[in-house]
Amino acid sequence: MKFRSTKGISPLISYKDAVLNCLPDDSGLYVPDHVPDFRQYFLHMDENTSFNDLVASVAPLFFKACLNPVAASKVVQSAYNFEPKLIKLDEKISILNLYNGPTGVFKDFGIAFMSAILEEILEDGRQIMILAAARPDTGVSMAHAFSGRKGISLVLLYPSGHIRGLDPSAFVQNGGNIIPIQVKGTFDDCQRLVVETILDREFSARYNVTSANSINPGRLFPQAFYYLYAFTQIKNFISGDLMFSVPCGNFGNLISGLYAWKFGMPVNGFIAAMNANNSFAGYLHDKPFKPSRLIHTNSPALDVSFPLNYERLNSFYEEAPAVMRNMVYPVSIDDETTFKTIEYVNKKYDIFIDPHTAVAFAAVQELIKTGNEYEHNIVLATGDPARSVNTVEEATRKAVKVPGHFIMMQRNCDAVAIIPPYLDAFESAVASCF
Ligand SMILES: *Cc1c(COP(=O)(O)O)cnc(C)c1O
Repeated sequence: MKFRSTKGISPLISYKDAVLNCLPDDSGLYVPDHVPDFRQYFLHMDENTSFNDLVASVAPLFFKACLNPVAASKVVQSAYNFEPKLIKLDEKISILNLYNGPTGVFKDFGIAFMSAILEEILEDGRQIMILAAARPDTGVSMAHAFSGRKGISLVLLYPSGHIRGLDPSAFVQNGGNIIPIQVKGTFDDCQRLVVETILDREFSARYNVTSANSINPGRLFPQAFYYLYAFTQIKNFISGDLMFSVPCGNFGNLISGLYAWKFGMPVNGFIAAMNANNSFAGYLHDKPFKPSRLIHTNSPALDVSFPLNYERLNSFYEEAPAVMRNMVYPVSIDDETTFKTIEYVNKKYDIFIDPHTAVAFAAVQELIKTGNEYEHNIVLATGDPARSVNTVEEATRKAVKVPGHFIMMQRNCDAVAIIPPYLDAFESAVASCF
């Protein structure tokens, strides 16, 4: 599988090069050049196939040239000591729990695979530097996955405010490979600095810089695995159409599902579930994309006004606008409905769901009201309810058990450096760490 830029100017490159140099010069994003059909590799799998077996069989096809089947099992072993869990609630709805990883969010799946495959690719002894804009909760997922990985240092750019849950013994001054830097500015400033640093080709060649945000295809494609897994788990137990409901922020998760579909997964549609930050809904209905002002909601991971993956989504729509309109259904859910859905699901099924999952769940209910009787809907549960304990306890009026490592993740820690939001300040802070 070769990768091309969405802008179509930069040359085709291999998966390995796309992971190591994740931004093309022409300001696009990397997407697969053509999409192979993987049906013959996963259609014979069923509810008895483990997640790791599925990934070990499918991954070499994605990552051909750089991952033979033996290396693939090694990478899978090193990435995953956790797996997704599909729970069928009733004839119409299942939940796909994606929060069983070390930091309790679905992002653990993509990040764990990317960190493991990078270590494998770097067997040749090369050293690389990974940059990532971080929020207090996403930083800890990346730090966990990359801590102690050979040949890799991870620079986390945090906006003003708190840095939470990192282990100071993994920091660079203690001999570790994690470097938290605080930028006096916003999360957008951090994302901008990541892109500017990578596009400073002299600096990024000197330190072999790449990113672990979802602009990197290395993180996005492994997320297709859990869609394929959910399909193989459920296919013998449903008749009729299958839909996935995905809570969308930067749209990385949804894009991964769309690729699973392109790789041959039989699915009838995706619900793009959004909160009040729904400027994308108009675009999905064929209007030009206009980002609107950011609104703070009770599902904060979906509070994004300009999705990082805009370029990739747009490339799907440019290729086949009519097909996409029948494949992706945008639904927007307000805070009150989110809150009530957490309570409803708890009463009806005796499980806790987090607010992001509740947005996706409520979106399914909206569509069931108007939709097809023969559908089965899989709701992606992206966050552990214990990570949103206040909202979940308030909505259900019940106590949620919070595991010890989540309490540790709330602990504040200090940055290695605090800098103004400018490229030269950032580059000299990084240089002084090596
Ligand atoms: C990041 C995140 C999302 C949004 O995923 P995107 O890939 O950015 O659309 C949803 N739920 C939770 C809990 C998250 O952490």
